[in-house]
Amino acid sequence: MEIDIDNELEKNYEKLQEEKLIDLNFVKPNKDCTQGCDNITDNNYVCFECEEIQVREKYPNAKYTDDCEWVLDK
Ligand SMILES: [Zn+2]
Repeated sequence: MEIDIDNELEKNYEKLQEEKLIDLNFVKPNKDCTQGCDNITDNNYVCFECEEIQVREKYPNAKYTDDCEWVLDK
């Protein structure tokens, strides 16, 4: 059976429409963090653990995708 590429693309597109990217601007480095948050420079780097905590606090149904992005799961 051949794979219907157009159909696959269509399905992916529909999937993207269902998910909503979360804007991570609200995520801040945790000053008590020892895992890798940057509290020294102005880079505002937030380690994944702290990012996840803050995202889940604000968006309880947030989901981390295989593309390393947070989306709202419907
Ligand atoms: Zn951290």
